[in-house]
Amino acid sequence: NAYAPIEADTYLNPSSMIALVTGANRGIGKEVVRQLAEKGHEVILTSRNAEKGQQAVQELSLPNIHFHQLDITQQASVDQLMSFVIDKFGRLDILVNNAGINYDTWQTAEEADMENVKETLETNLIGAWRMAKACIPLMKEHSYGRMVNVSSGAGAISGMGAGTPAYSVSKAAMNVMSIKLAAELMGSGILVNAICPGWVRTEMGGAGAPISIQEGAEGIIWAAELPQNGPTGGFFRDGKEIGF
Ligand code: NAP
Repeated sequence: NAYAPIEADTYLNPSSMIALVTGANRGIGKEVVRQLAEKGHEVILTSRNAEKGQQAVQELSLPNIHFHQLDITQQASVDQLMSFVIDKFGRLDILVNNAGINYDTWQTAEEADMENVKETLETNLIGAWRMAKACIPLMKEHSYGRMVNVSSGAGAISGMGAGTPAYSVSKAAMNVMSIKLAAELMGSGILVNAICPGWVRTEMGGAGAPISIQEGAEGIIWAAELPQNGPTGGFFRDGKEIGF
């Protein structure tokens, strides 16, 4: 096994991490995979649709990108992925909780479709939380981990106004999850941060968004490669702290 467990101090060299990205068949997730792989990390690109995921791996065409199916709303899918990670790599250093859905600009809190709200929370909050729970034990084994929860300024409570109710509630809740995990894992070597990529030109962000996918991914890479004395429990955009 080329990726057998290694001593914690080996991690001082940040070029040989095992990273996992959710929702990486397109958009920001796919670009995060590309940038992490170009920096020399072994990256597991995951996608709920296996065909689309394998297509993305082919397009990225880098030898250090690996594929596994993952639907973050399905515990069985998460369990299968984690068995793969343990068998193939024996460790996990970076989790990018990127998969997300439903920027619901068409509805209000007052008239929200509750099935739609439930589905949004199931992915954006519970799915990310399920992944965190699955990965933390592996990170703890080596006293090292970087968890990047891809959130949104739409989930910032201070100054929050009307609109996008399901999405905003889900991302605000994801931020709270980040704060809780960071506090519980303080001193463990695992840093947990929430990141807003900005308004990015993806299927979710739309063609009119001002930020390229490449730029949008950069703040996520920053949080994935934080040094051991880096921040935890924060909310950042472009490497700068923003208010929760
Ligand atoms: P995107 O292009 O819509 O991509 C979302 C990805 O998540 C897709 O790969 C999608 O897979 C995947 N996904 C959805 N549900 C999933 C599930 N249950 N299991 C696994 N994967 C799932 O969106 P994006 O713009 O790249 O967004 C990435 C993240 O950034 C999201 O968390 C989003 O909320 C956040 N964000 C985006 C913006 C922006 O302006 N774009 C701004 C702030 C925050 P399918 O292809 O199968 O649907």
